[in-house]
Amino acid sequence: MESALTARDRVGVQDFVLLENFTSEAAFIENLRKRFKENLIYTYIGSVLVSVNPYKELEIYSKQHMERYRGVSFYEVSPHLYAIADNSYRSLRMERKDQCILISGESGAGKTEATKKILQYYAVTCPASEQVETVKDRLLQSNPVLEAFGNAKTLRNDNSSRFGKYMDVQFDYKGAPVGGHILNYLLEKSRVVHQNHGERNFHIFYQLLEGAEDELLRRLGLEKNPQQYHYLVKGQCARVSSISDKNDWKIVRKALSVINFTDNEVEDLLSIVASVLHLGNVQFADDEQGNAQVTTENQIKYLARLLGVGGSLLREALTHKTIIAKGEELVSPLNLEQAAYARDALAKAVYGRTFSWLVNKINKSLAYKDAECPGRRSATVLGLLDIYGFEVFQHNSFEQFCINYCNEKLQQLFIELTLKSEQEEYESEGIAWEPVQYFNNKIICDLVEEKFKGIISILDEECLRPGDATDMTFLEKLEETVKNHPHFLTHKLADQKTRKSLDREQFRLLHYAGEVTYSVTGTSYTTVTPLPDIGTMCNSENPIINHCFERSELTDKRRPETAATQFKNSLSKLMEILMSKEPSYIRCIKPNDAKQAARFDEVLIRHQVKYLGLMENLRVRRAGFAYRRKYEIFLQRYKSLCSETWPMWEGRQHDGVAVLVKHLGYKPEEYKMGRSVISFFPNLWLKSIEGNVLD
Ligand code: ATP
Ligand code: MG
Repeated sequence: MESALTARDRVGVQDFVLLENFTSEAAFIENLRKRFKENLIYTYIGSVLVSVNPYKELEIYSKQHMERYRGVSFYEVSPHLYAIADNSYRSLRMERKDQCILISGESGAGKTEATKKILQYYAVTCPASEQVETVKDRLLQSNPVLEAFGNAKTLRNDNSSRFGKYMDVQFDYKGAPVGGHILNYLLEKSRVVHQNHGERNFHIFYQLLEGAEDELLRRLGLEKNPQQYHYLVKGQCARVSSISDKNDWKIVRKALSVINFTDNEVEDLLSIVASVLHLGNVQFADDEQGNAQVTTENQIKYLARLLGVGGSLLREALTHKTIIAKGEELVSPLNLEQAAYARDALAKAVYGRTFSWLVNKINKSLAYKDAECPGRRSATVLGLLDIYGFEVFQHNSFEQFCINYCNEKLQQLFIELTLKSEQEEYESEGIAWEPVQYFNNKIICDLVEEKFKGIISILDEECLRPGDATDMTFLEKLEETVKNHPHFLTHKLADQKTRKSLDREQFRLLHYAGEVTYSVTGTSYTTVTPLPDIGTMCNSENPIINHCFERSELTDKRRPETAATQFKNSLSKLMEILMSKEPSYIRCIKPNDAKQAARFDEVLIRHQVKYLGLMENLRVRRAGFAYRRKYEIFLQRYKSLCSETWPMWEGRQHDGVAVLVKHLGYKPEEYKMGRSVISFFPNLWLKSIEGNVLD
């Protein structure tokens, strides 16, 4: 039989706190590597779960596995998503405190898979009744629908979520899931009209073309071949080997009916999907005056029918702009370039608003009918956050700026909550401890969001300034206002050496996770997108479109909010929501860029360990008592290591534990016995017994 020591050598430790050389990043990564090789993809840092994407199906998600984790304390079983899920659920039930599970990591690291597995865990293990079954079904079925409309194949992930998602699951006093609510963040709308090489548009387009019956396609005026559509050919990869659009179409169709869509609503929704494809095929030519004219009449015909608007109105809307000046409407023609821009803007607006409508519609079907049960205590809530990780591309635009800003905020929350809660626990145990030094990224959050002098404030000012604001004037303003900030740089502000790596239209932020250079041109920094054709759209006979474009927008005289401010406000609400809950963390790591099993790319992983702040997290954990265990749990797990406690300790639990630790050779100053709990200093703990008890 393999000895405990060699086994530990082979599989590593299941909690990084047990690492002898805990300040060494190399030791950290070596432990990850050992475990990954043995298909042990989960490891703890205390109560934080680190997960490495295996890129293959593992037999660890069965019903039997779920049962193994149900109602069982954290440390008694090997690390798993289910342990986190169960732990949060038990706190929610016992303490009636709202919980949240924050899942982070870069694209392809496994966030969405983790979210789905946690939902499945609750669906299987939570109490059931007929009504609850419906809610469980809807919670699960909302996923394929949102993924069809909000996910796409990218270079990094064949099923990449192109929006951020926060989902609340509501539980009643019996612990049964009775409702849910979804908040969505910043859908990547630019994908509707443009995809990089090797990437696709949102899944739904391909599913519809591949899966829908001929009659439906005929009604929508569509052909099966994606190559026919400008909005689908840019990435040149309509087919993806890991995706079956035909099969997914069936799943989505079924899911739509589970979440309460009527046949008419499905038809209205698909009409919009089809209309986006038709819009992409609308072409223009110059007339004698250099004004744009629509040359693709067929498309206008379909569009008019699918969107339920008049053909001539639509034609007019695509080739003219309307400005209201001094109370009078001024209509002027667009040139070719402007018309193409207006067409794409309309496609993005139609798709983006329909996506938000879809989330609302799902929320209605998930709504907890609390009001119908007077006298019943309202639900407790468990939130799941599956949001984009830090992004650095060759070319970084406004979208990356928002995403990385979001990650700064989440990092800030992580620092505050982990440090705060550790500190509180040590205080309540009466243990003195040295605060751990860490980089506080508040300085970067402030740089982005501070009133008057933060980047978003300056951006707003430029966007809303009447006259000649451009991307470059925004950049100049930025340079003027934040020139001495240690985390901000531009070409002009850089020294000779650094200047070479920066173009004139770029600015660079030193994020907590590393440098990112953002380009201000060709993006939506200063363009408050002129909303195309609201007038035309709000007369639409398609009820969804009609709902998405409200007439009040036309007459609203308030200054519109810029995209950046909208995002900032929604993030700030999200932070409030998360702060009010007890958090658990899952930190996902992507093992390689090739989406392959059994490939452990050390450079890539080291980078992620760094920007997920895992080493800091470990240092904080190690600064105090690493392990606190209830006596009965401790005895149960380790009684086999001492003949006096094996197979059963008959006396008081406290005394049994005392006998056991003495037998194991601990000195009194190395541990502390509290009222019901024994605590160890981690560096002593690690030398000892845990290595003898295997996963
Ligand atoms: P993005 O930010 O792009 O949305 P993500 O972190 O949500 O990325 P996922 O879509 O969850 O990443 O995972 C990417 C792929 O990795 C999945 O489609 C699946 O093939 C694989 N994968 C992730 N987690 C697991 C797992 N636990 N077991 C098996 N395969 C997994
Ligand atoms: Mg995802």
